[in-house]
Amino acid sequence: MSSNKQQQLDQIAADIQEKNVCPDLAKTATNLVIGDGTLDAEIVFIGEAPGKNEDEQGLPFVGAAGKFLNEMLATVGLERKDVYITNIVKYRPPNNRDPLPDEKKAFWPFLVRQLNVIEPKIIVTLGRHSMEYFLPGMKISQIHGEPKRVAFGDRKAVIVPLFHPAAALYNGSMRQTLIDDFSRLPTIIKLLKTEERITDNGTT
Ligand code: URA
Repeated sequence: MSSNKQQQLDQIAADIQEKNVCPDLAKTATNLVIGDGTLDAEIVFIGEAPGKNEDEQGLPFVGAAGKFLNEMLATVGLERKDVYITNIVKYRPPNNRDPLPDEKKAFWPFLVRQLNVIEPKIIVTLGRHSMEYFLPGMKISQIHGEPKRVAFGDRKAVIVPLFHPAAALYNGSMRQTLIDDFSRLPTIIKLLKTEERITDNGTT
């Protein structure tokens, strides 16, 4: 990973603190949870907001939902260090309540900056809170697992909307759906790489 990318990420974290983003959340949170993994990741996973464990450790997805996410990553031959994991909201909402629309809106530009640094091929949204920013008006129950090309900020990316691991953890059918959707990620990546090669070698 280039130290330049790390410097840019550090600057994003510093800006969140200096600009006093969501001061009420900042007051009750222990840590700013910016993200975890490699800044050269082809896949970025985006959840909703840190919970208790994440707030304490300053890392995303380290509780029960994180354990489930790690297990699913292992089924497709990946470890956390191979991907990048973050949330739309970077401070824990009190009592794990859902993040508010204003909170998501306040953090959105910083998430876009993170994605501009990492430049992933695929963005996997975990749950509706991060999905709705990339795919407004869509319903996760109808489009989960389907890759979608989107434009946001100055970039284009492929979004794969998945159910949130915490929601799926104790719901048998949603859990299986999430596992099935997850198992298709390697094929989606392969397809994208093939498409890129076709574009690179185009003769017209
Ligand atoms: N749920 C999330 O959305 N993010 C975390 O980091 C942990 C649980």
